[in-house]
Amino acid sequence: MRPLIAGNWKMHGLAPQLDDIEAIAASVKATPPFADILICLPATLIARAVQTAAGRIAIGGENCSAEVSGAFTGDISAEMLKGAGASAVIVGHSERRQHHDETDAIVAAKAKAARRAGLLAIICVGETKSQRLAGKALSICGDQIAGSVPESMTASALAIGYEPLWAIGSGHMPTSKEIAEMHGHIRQCLVARLGTEGKDVRILYGGSVQPSNARDILSVPEVGRALVGGASLKARDFEAIIGAVPTKA
Ligand code: PEP
Repeated sequence: MRPLIAGNWKMHGLAPQLDDIEAIAASVKATPPFADILICLPATLIARAVQTAAGRIAIGGENCSAEVSGAFTGDISAEMLKGAGASAVIVGHSERRQHHDETDAIVAAKAKAARRAGLLAIICVGETKSQRLAGKALSICGDQIAGSVPESMTASALAIGYEPLWAIGSGHMPTSKEIAEMHGHIRQCLVARLGTEGKDVRILYGGSVQPSNARDILSVPEVGRALVGGASLKARDFEAIIGAVPTKA
C-alpha cells in the first residue's frame, strides 16, 4: 500500500492556478516523493491540469454521476472524467452529502460508476461533532462504510477518506489516538465488507491537515495518507505536506 496524498480543491481554481499544478509537478520530478500524489479539481480544470502535470501527479474529479450518459443536465459521468484524463474521483464528500442530500446508496452508486470507468473511487466518511461527543463516531463511520462501499470493490479501485466533519477547514482535529482508533475501526469494517481486499484499501485522514501538523498525522499508526483541502491550493503548502510522508511508510 503505497501512501497517497490527495488534494481537494473544492470549488476553487481558475486557469492561473494551473501554475500551482505545474510547480507541484516540478517539485515531484525534482524530489520523487514516498507517496502517490493526486489532486482532485473542478471538472473545468481537469483536462488542462492533466497536460500541465505531464504524468508526474495524478489528476482527479471531485464528484461524478452514477449514470453513463443521458438527460442529466449539468451532471458529469465517471466516463467523462476518465476521458478528460482523470484517474480518480472523490465520492460522498461531506459537503455533497450535506448540500446535495447524497445518501449512502447514492454514494455507493457513484463509487460503482467510478469503478466501471476505471477510476479510483475515494469514498469519504466522517462524523459530526455531536455524534463524536455522543460516543457514536465509530458506529456512524462503520454504517457509512457498510452503506457506501459496494461489495464488488477491490483494494486498487478504492480509497477511504476519513474526514470528521467538524475538522474540515476548522483548524480543529481529533487526537492522534482518536485518528488511530478510527482508522483501525474502518480497516475492520472494510475487511468485514470486502474480505481480504479490505486489508489493502488505503485510508486517508482528512480535516485541517497543514504543513505544521502533517508529520504528526502521517506518522499515526494506520494513517500515512492524507486528503487535504485548503492546504492543497498553494503549491508550497502542499509540497511541504508531501515532504512530511514518513520515508518508511
Ligand atoms: C476536505 O474538505 O476534503 C478537507 C480535508 O478540507 P481541509 O483540509 O481544508 O480541512
